Amino acid sequence: MPTHLQDTTTLHNGVKMPWLGLGVYKVQEGEEVVSSVKAAIRNGYRSIDTAAVYGNEEGVGQAIRESIAELGIKREDLFVTSKLWNADQGFDTALQAYEVSLKKLGLDYLDLYLIHWPVKGKYKESWKALESIYKEGKVRAIGVSNFQIHHLDDLMQDAELKPVVNQVEFHPLLTQKELLDYCKRAEIQLEAWSPLAQGQIIDNELLRGIAAKYGKSVAQIVLRWDLQHGVVTIPKSVKEQRIVENADVFDFELSDDDMSAIDALNENRRIGPDPDHFNF
Ligand code: NDP
Repeated sequence: MPTHLQDTTTLHNGVKMPWLGLGVYKVQEGEEVVSSVKAAIRNGYRSIDTAAVYGNEEGVGQAIRESIAELGIKREDLFVTSKLWNADQGFDTALQAYEVSLKKLGLDYLDLYLIHWPVKGKYKESWKALESIYKEGKVRAIGVSNFQIHHLDDLMQDAELKPVVNQVEFHPLLTQKELLDYCKRAEIQLEAWSPLAQGQIIDNELLRGIAAKYGKSVAQIVLRWDLQHGVVTIPKSVKEQRIVENADVFDFELSDDDMSAIDALNENRRIGPDPDHFNF
């Protein structure tokens, strides 16, 4: 089990990825994103998750540059993820989109580049582009997001390289047991998006009881549950106090009974779009 915020999981291509990072979905470009990413890095986070469609890659890049200058850390100490948007799927368009993301971030490589959604009829061509970016050494790892088991099976039928990561909606109301088991067997690291169900699980009675027992907050209990399931997690907050709170999950352990009680909250309930029925 990880015991420190900067502890990493080793992806199947050997690259090390921090178990916990900062998400920046819906964080405004400019001051808001710059200050939250800087607060995270200042408080020990080393992994940042953005996407072209979030419209805040420039601010993420600015925060990275300022943090490097102010804190004496190096680019190689950080793990930066971005994602290929649906409108850019296809071979040539994906190659171009990667360059645009790099330029906006002001970086010369990403640690992880993901296909954001499994757009039918397109994701295999996009994957070929990501494979080529990887083989040229321009990105350290490539993966997917919002892929169900059948998408992964389909992708891997023609793929040369297996995705290292699958980033999906994952929280106590949507525990994704089959997908998690599949990814473990395939050595694809599962990564949780909306790990706090965008705040919707904070008032859950059972979680409140468990939190009181451990002297932790509900958010901390849920993020710890991710880690004990072997799932990488990227909670989002724009508030420094919560950014610190969300990372303070390495000093306690949930019992097997409490892990099972949280698992039993599953309702297969999504708060985000269904990867089999989306139209964007
Ligand atoms: P989260 O589950 O991380 O929840 C974020 C919400 O919870 C915000 O409203 C935040 O408010 C609040 N919050 C954060 N910490 C606490 C706390 N300790 N106590 C109480 N409330 C808290 O939602 P996201 O949807 O942002 O998911 C996380 C990240 O996953 C995204 O930012 C993005 O990087 C990624 N993602 C990827 C998707 C994909 O398709 N691949 C889809 C969706 C997300 P506040 O900021 O005010 O603190």
